[in-house]
Amino acid sequence: MKQTWEQVDEYMTDLLCPNDHVLDDVLVANRNADLPEIDVTGTQGKLLQLLVQMKGAKRILEIGTLGAYSTIWMARGLPDDGKIVTLELEPRHAEVAKANIKRAGLEQTIEVRTGNALDSLEKMAQAGEEPFDFIFIDADKPSNPQYLKWALHFSRPGTVIFGDNVVRDGEVANRHSTDPRVKGVRTFFDMIAGDPRISATAIQTVGSKGYDGFMIGIVQQTGQSPQK
Ligand code: SAM
Repeated sequence: MKQTWEQVDEYMTDLLCPNDHVLDDVLVANRNADLPEIDVTGTQGKLLQLLVQMKGAKRILEIGTLGAYSTIWMARGLPDDGKIVTLELEPRHAEVAKANIKRAGLEQTIEVRTGNALDSLEKMAQAGEEPFDFIFIDADKPSNPQYLKWALHFSRPGTVIFGDNVVRDGEVANRHSTDPRVKGVRTFFDMIAGDPRISATAIQTVGSKGYDGFMIGIVQQTGQSPQK
């Protein structure tokens, strides 16, 4: 028996985010390649697309590509000259993502960079990469504190930072948790709470992927380079 919120998610998805072959094909390709089914849901993907459009973003940074399902949703909110840089650790995930991006006709818009995101971010800083308008943090949660530092580094006033999976079945409220993912998210929230450069909130969500939530914030001042 499905939870009520799963039925509601299906109802909303059918009405507001009807399936299209490009995104359906991405999920099929991911499943065929045995990628974990940890991509955002359709309603969440549409939310990302709408936020990108509302922000009028032209440059997006994504940390955690998987098969590029969320990446393709966000690309749909960009203008023709928009760009997404997406960072992925696993070469196999990156290869599936690149094939999905090619099939979606978005090779000019989306660049997948393979490797540990922390190394990629360091290289990007050394190369003088320009700031981004929208930053989506969705990789390994223990590294969320470092990702937040880098997100602030690659921000300008008005940049939107969105962090996924920050509720973790409610465990985020457990200050005794020893789970490194929960600890990473709690440190991430402590940093946000104590940093005047970002104003943020967090929303709990339920849906076809269970109980979780996201953080969304806006950068008030230009970020500083993280301390090594
Ligand atoms: N954003 C994707 C979507 O919604 O379609 C889902 C991303 S999935 C939750 C997290 C991804 O982050 C996985 O593909 C994983 O391999 C990648 N990842 C984990 N640790 C990483 C790291 N240190 N650097 C870069 N990517 C990492």
